Amino acid sequence: MAKGDHLYDCYKPPAQEFIRGEGAYLYTDKGEKYLDFIAGIAVTCLGHNHPDLVKAIQTQAGELLHLSNMFRVKGQFELADKYCAALPFAEKVFFTNSGAEALECAMKTARRYQHDRGHPERYDIITFQGAFHGRTFATITAGGNPKYVKGFGPKLPGFINLPFGDHDALDAAITPQTAAILVEPVQGEGGLRPLPEACLKGLRALCDEKGIVLIYDEVQCGAGRTGKLFAHQWAEGAEPDIMAIAKGVGGGFPFGACLAREEIAQYMVPGTHGSTYGGNPLAMAAGNAVFDIISQPDFLDHVVKMSNRLKQQFEGLKDRYPDVVEDIRGKGLLIGMKLKKDVLPVRKEALEKGLLAGSAGDNVLRMAPPLIIDESHIHEAVGILEACFKTAQNAPDI
Ligand SMILES: *Cc1c(COP(=O)(O)O)cnc(C)c1O
Repeated sequence: MAKGDHLYDCYKPPAQEFIRGEGAYLYTDKGEKYLDFIAGIAVTCLGHNHPDLVKAIQTQAGELLHLSNMFRVKGQFELADKYCAALPFAEKVFFTNSGAEALECAMKTARRYQHDRGHPERYDIITFQGAFHGRTFATITAGGNPKYVKGFGPKLPGFINLPFGDHDALDAAITPQTAAILVEPVQGEGGLRPLPEACLKGLRALCDEKGIVLIYDEVQCGAGRTGKLFAHQWAEGAEPDIMAIAKGVGGGFPFGACLAREEIAQYMVPGTHGSTYGGNPLAMAAGNAVFDIISQPDFLDHVVKMSNRLKQQFEGLKDRYPDVVEDIRGKGLLIGMKLKKDVLPVRKEALEKGLLAGSAGDNVLRMAPPLIIDESHIHEAVGILEACFKTAQNAPDI
């Protein structure tokens, strides 16, 4: 096998080798500069090389890297306090290394609650088509994407995947076995589809009425990305019982968490769950540094301002390229366009012209820039997209 060819072929990265980042820009080994409008898929929310985050990690690395959850990790207590102060529903926190693990913890917590309060028969978890919850066995079953479950044996029992936004299907699917409903307030992979605020409120009411646990997956849409600390906060009164977070909350350091109401989490006692690395001192240094920045009202106001600006500019592109752009999608700085032409060549040309963007289901060009972008970055990105749409105009419709 050729040297350098020993990685699983699960990803097909382009030729560029990025070796350094600064703010909203990435630089290759050849010194070329690229505008990063995907931020590791909504991860590097503070941009690259943010001084506070770098300093927090460097300082912690010189003191204590790892300890084990057998011992008190100071940063965990601090960060859990901060999240629980910021979110009325949150009273208990379990730290993980990733989004999928945060979801695993969320689903285990919901089932254990039903079980220990006398309803062992309630283990079904209802999810929605277009969802993405990770790549573990449980989370691929939960997401239900046929491409992600194919060839990996039987799906796990206890999951029901329903059409997105179909109220009748939801009513019909609820049975005495229903334990929880799991939903992304804004679907990321599924094509940047926000769930209307009324739907979130409706789900909250339904769960209250039927004793169902409401779980939000804010792994992608949380961490300030929509202009609130968490996306569900746009829908007043639609708080979850459990929420899984990751991606942006670490700003590039791998870390996630499961947040829950105490009534629900009380059954997760010693022996029920664990993680070697989850919430280790280094992760907590990063998590605390990121939280202290993204929870500032001024920071979130900036996100709202920039997202309005970007949306306005995308509307302009839609008007000028009606043969290319079908729709503006997303919420806040998790924003994109559903295209009428194949999204992949557009994304590829954007990269050639110096702009990193992503794609999502439903032929959506996905963008999740660092939350620190300013007008100049928006101007630059829209200029590149305009050039790409000029090319795409002549491509066949999909
Ligand atoms: C990325 C993502 C996950 C999985 O997170 P990992 O850290 O890759 O395990 C789960 N849910 C949503 C909504 C995501 O975007």
